[in-house]
Amino acid sequence: MSIYLPGFEPDAAERAQLRFVGGVLDLRQFDKILISVSGGKDSHAMLWLVRDLADRQGVPREKLLAMYADTGMEWHNAGTHVQALCKAAGVELATVYPVMTLIERMKWQGQRFIERGKTRRDGKSNGVMFPSPHCRYCTSKQKQEPMDKLARKFSGKLLKVTGERWAESKARSTYAEFISVPRLNSRERQVFGWRPMLAFSEADIWAMVRDTGVPRHVCYEMGCNRLGCAGCIFSKDHELRIEMRENPAIFEALDRLEAESGYTMSMSEKRIRDRIK
Ligand code: SF4
Repeated sequence: MSIYLPGFEPDAAERAQLRFVGGVLDLRQFDKILISVSGGKDSHAMLWLVRDLADRQGVPREKLLAMYADTGMEWHNAGTHVQALCKAAGVELATVYPVMTLIERMKWQGQRFIERGKTRRDGKSNGVMFPSPHCRYCTSKQKQEPMDKLARKFSGKLLKVTGERWAESKARSTYAEFISVPRLNSRERQVFGWRPMLAFSEADIWAMVRDTGVPRHVCYEMGCNRLGCAGCIFSKDHELRIEMRENPAIFEALDRLEAESGYTMSMSEKRIRDRIK
């Protein structure tokens, strides 16, 4: 776990612009609090954490807005699950959509890939067909851009809350709790990012989810460890098997894309149909 020494915090510049009460972020300073919710365990727990803090500080519920980005490759019941969570938490929900579904974007990317005569499977640019850990257009185009568009509808001092945890990955283990979001700033708007879940363990998260009294998404009962896109680039084989079984239309679309293009979604170059055998 990271230890913050006063004056040496990686987010000292952001903290200096924020107001705290007894060491806790004062949510009353924000004009709008945008909470990213995917329906997975971390955002499930986070929705209640932020709502309860807002209630304790006397922040009107109208200031809270949950944001759910439908990538177009979601579990068939993810949207309904997020709606149920927000209804139970008493927080308004805004669902945002990208300009094309993730499957459509893969096809579009593939077309560019073929037209440009590229021979590599992966790259850091957007000139590749399938998204990968090195080319996360699935996140930037399907989640971040639609959420940014929504955030730009508001003005004043905004807070964007996201549920990353230090224990999730090496990359995330260095995340700061507060960040500036300059791409969203303007003369009328200043946006801060807050990651309140960073220090929690997975066991903590499950305890928090249980305390909400609202059932977790069914993917966890089936053996998945996370809820993402059905066919997420980070899914392990046993998770992919469940995701493709439960979302057959997505399996058919991905399988067709792999067959038609001759490329695979997996970096291992194994077809999805072989990974889920
Ligand atoms: S859940 Fe997976 S596939 Fe979907 S946007 Fe996130 S990283 Fe990409």
